[in-house]
Amino acid sequence: MPTAAFTTLGCKVNQYETQKILERFESLGFDIVPFDVPADVYVINTCSVTQSAEAKSRQTVRRAARQNPNAVVVMTGCYAQFTLRRGETLDEAHLVVPNPDKLRTADYLLEHFPHFKAQLAQKRPNGEAPVRRRSRAVLKIQDGCNVYCSFCSIPYTRPVMRSTPYTEVLDEARAMVQDGYRELVLTGVLIGDYGPETGSGGPDLAELCALLGEIDGLERIRISSIEPTLVTDRLIDLIATHPKMCPHLHIPLQSGDTGVLQAMNRPYDQAFYLDLIRRLRARVPNCAISTDIMVGFPGEDEAAFQNTCFVVEQVEFCRAHLFRYSPRPDTPAEAMRNQVPDPVKAERMQRLQHISKAAAQRYAARLLGTVERVLVETRSKLSGLMTGTSDRYLQVEFAAPNSLAGQIIPVRLVDLTPDGVLGELTTA
Ligand code: SF4
Repeated sequence: MPTAAFTTLGCKVNQYETQKILERFESLGFDIVPFDVPADVYVINTCSVTQSAEAKSRQTVRRAARQNPNAVVVMTGCYAQFTLRRGETLDEAHLVVPNPDKLRTADYLLEHFPHFKAQLAQKRPNGEAPVRRRSRAVLKIQDGCNVYCSFCSIPYTRPVMRSTPYTEVLDEARAMVQDGYRELVLTGVLIGDYGPETGSGGPDLAELCALLGEIDGLERIRISSIEPTLVTDRLIDLIATHPKMCPHLHIPLQSGDTGVLQAMNRPYDQAFYLDLIRRLRARVPNCAISTDIMVGFPGEDEAAFQNTCFVVEQVEFCRAHLFRYSPRPDTPAEAMRNQVPDPVKAERMQRLQHISKAAAQRYAARLLGTVERVLVETRSKLSGLMTGTSDRYLQVEFAAPNSLAGQIIPVRLVDLTPDGVLGELTTA
């Protein structure tokens, strides 16, 4: 059977859409393989949120073409759409699927490369089942943003606020669990806005999570990314009390400086963010917080940057996604006059990387000796150990048989590794 490999750049919405594209390939009979091995088809769901995301999208397309020069390389997503709009081409991309059509990527492929149809029509030897890898699924419940951060173009491209009706969310979640997924990661552009005003049909985000928690066979619910001002007390209470809710939230900080946050048009300040984390951890001990931070926004001077470092030190994020500000066309920040020079941005990035890595290790070190529930995902090529993601979003490595892949098991955390934690199986 032909093989297909997938990778995603950018946000959780893109991840959700990649999953949907992958499922269509699977249903047609493609075998799904990891992105770093030779495949017949590579699908890259690209991103254009920053210039660096665009560069990474191009690099990933080129890497795929190098891995198997005979493969068909397919590009979709926001960066792919930009290239179509600008009439640009990338030699290594054999097929560019417009972003609005991305869920039909498999059909585009069969239309343009019909030899795959003939291959898929062949019977598998001994009627063997296709290779399926099931563990964590991303479930999109909301679309649209009306926050208008001054650096972001999303509200211009997705201005309509829409919550997926809760009955549809529950149906999709049940189907995913039926398919073997143990953890659902809820996602959307402004997920905290989920609610009846935008079409949920009743529940807000916390109530939806509680309804999802009633699904038999679903073991974990994780919230992918939620704006600080939209984390409600009800949601915090649910995370504190519901056994299926992961004690983890991804709460974008963007900057720890109140002046920069104002210039970004973000509706909170440093004190609000720190107070939120304090309230959250008072109810949910050691709650994991991951985040996004933008370095070098126009007007960010050394003192403002130090304020961001201060918040990183204080919060001890379990993971921080750092990226350099780059002007996006037609956003207010593009026209700001006090742009930060690139070498300054690069130097600050380096400093913040060190600080955030040390802070993440301090957070993980506090959990050593405790038992985390870990979703077993794959075997590391480097260490030969199994790896998985814990409730608190730690990457844990431990000795275990392949047969545990896809299960959620208790693992005692025993030591730090450069990128995560070493654990050992336990019955506790
Ligand atoms: S909240 Fe801000 S960064 Fe996030 S999608 Fe909306 S405008 Fe963009």
